[in-house]
Amino acid sequence: MTDLQGKIALVTGASRGIGRAIAVGLAGCGADIAVNYKTRENEARITQQQVISQGRRSIIIQADVSRSSEVGNMIAAVEKDLGPVDILVNNAGIARFQSVEATTEADWDEVLTANLKSVFLVTQAVLPGMRRRRWGRIINISSGAAKTGGGVGLHYTASKAGIEGLTRAYASRLVKEGITVTAVAPSLIATDMIPDEEGRRKQVPLGRLGRVDEVAEAVIFLAGNEYATGQVIALNGGMYFR
Ligand code: NAP
Repeated sequence: MTDLQGKIALVTGASRGIGRAIAVGLAGCGADIAVNYKTRENEARITQQQVISQGRRSIIIQADVSRSSEVGNMIAAVEKDLGPVDILVNNAGIARFQSVEATTEADWDEVLTANLKSVFLVTQAVLPGMRRRRWGRIINISSGAAKTGGGVGLHYTASKAGIEGLTRAYASRLVKEGITVTAVAPSLIATDMIPDEEGRRKQVPLGRLGRVDEVAEAVIFLAGNEYATGQVIALNGGMYFR
């Protein structure tokens, strides 16, 4: 089992869905957890309780991770209350289901800022500390859409493809400093973003949507592995075979 005792993890967008499962999964391996959320404080508290019930320390922090001032305050709060961030999971994201024709410049900016700029901002904020300690794990949540084109929208697909490029860019620059940078690219995981519906089940060769704990398992593997860097793990129930 992956041993993360003594490590401090920050999971962005951990108030629900995939982020909550990752937070709880990393706590199960011994990490203390900073739970970031944007709007749903009550949901974030549920995640925090699930972490604490496993004997780990946990704080919740409200911050819009697409705004640099809020990111700066968030990292300062984590360092003050828990300690420096060893494991960063850039999970926060939004999906706007829009056609080519309906996508405006404002939509583009909103999705790219929330999904891609946020990864840059939070990573930049934790990197100096990781470099000083010569240890870090940065795990980004991409999407199968980055490779297939996806069904959400142009902006969503571009943001996730950007995340995969950013993952490789950081990984190649940090590989000698004890810091790995990787990504997990799920497709059709049952959450508020992607409700479990018959039509969606039919899209997956396995015959069902993925579970949030299956994404958490891949994140835990990457948090514990020093040799995997610059890589993207796809979780898609066989959708590559379509
Ligand atoms: P979800 O249930 O909609 O949850 C999204 C989470 O992100 C919430 O905790 C939300 O916080 C947070 N969030 C959104 N914008 C934020 C911001 N600007 N700052 C801070 N937090 C923010 O989504 P999910 O399905 O768990 O998805 C999680 C990640 O996996 C996303 O990056 C998504 O693109 C990716 N993904 C999901 C699927 C899927 O099939 N579900 C597939 C591929 C990739 P509040 O609730 O507090 O507002």
